[in-house]
Amino acid sequence: MPKNPQILPSSPLFPFSLLSAPVWKQYQIIGLGLLLGVCVTACNTQTTAEPQSNQNRASSPNATDWFRKDKKVILTTFTVLADMAQNVAGDKVIVQSITKPGAEIHGYEVTPSDLKRGQGASLILDNGLNLERWATRFYNSFPKVPRITVSEGIKPINIAEDSYKGKPNPHAWMSPKNALVYVRNIRRALSNADPANAATYEANSTKYSQQIEAIDEKLKQAISAIPPDKRYIVSCEGAFSYIARDYGLKEVYIWPVNAEQQSTPKQVERVIDTVKANKIPAVFCESTVSNEAQLQVAKETGAKFAGVFYVDSLSPSEGPASTYLKMLEYNVNTLIKGLQGNG
Ligand SMILES: [Zn+2]
Repeated sequence: MPKNPQILPSSPLFPFSLLSAPVWKQYQIIGLGLLLGVCVTACNTQTTAEPQSNQNRASSPNATDWFRKDKKVILTTFTVLADMAQNVAGDKVIVQSITKPGAEIHGYEVTPSDLKRGQGASLILDNGLNLERWATRFYNSFPKVPRITVSEGIKPINIAEDSYKGKPNPHAWMSPKNALVYVRNIRRALSNADPANAATYEANSTKYSQQIEAIDEKLKQAISAIPPDKRYIVSCEGAFSYIARDYGLKEVYIWPVNAEQQSTPKQVERVIDTVKANKIPAVFCESTVSNEAQLQVAKETGAKFAGVFYVDSLSPSEGPASTYLKMLEYNVNTLIKGLQGNG
């Protein structure tokens, strides 16, 4: 918190004159300043620790300049990409996510502070494959900031039904195999934007890719222990197509992609029929949407509602899926426990 609000008007965050405003307006401006000051710190959860400098960030009269000059700021559209990018960037770059942990990311509403952060970014990393439906408005505000779509080179799996039929399933990151492509694209993007640190990005991405490969192997082995006729993953959103393909799972979902209007009676009925016909013991939903429809499936089929998967967003740092690798492991453990009746 700024100890002396009088310094706020000189910050580039506040291009208007505080002193010429009426008294009530001054309080409003100071309040806004405090809020934004908090956000500069609190929204920066993915940054590399630099305790001494960061303590001064919110109160510095030149906070924005400091922010930009010391390190490049890379913005990602959601938390999973921020974690991947931070692993590749190490301490060379500040990485932030536009959407926060727990946020719905498909139909996100961009805020004025997001636009401000976009203008200050050196690079934006997005997923593409129609994930960020809100991105056009966002990008139109700062057309000169370079953008990289990190799913480039991935062969999409198309959605098979409903209004999304024939469109690519955006959740490519859910397969570790695809994550290796994401990491390669992130490494290239960072090296191009900041060639002086290319060797660091190369070393970090090699190490991180090895960790992804190791967890991929571990999860494949865990899933292979499930009897083949029990390898179903029943979720709310159809976000598991890539992981289902790579791990030999059968995917069942209520709706294909999170949208404002979800779960028609027909969609719920279809899942109820499938769960009953195949005697699937456990159903699940995702952390960013309501469980209601899946609870109805559980009630009408006798299957157990056995937990929540993390897909579109990591958990907060104290939660069980605070990194991409933890998220993969948590989901597969939740699935296995549920299918074994221990969920
Ligand atoms: Zn999703």
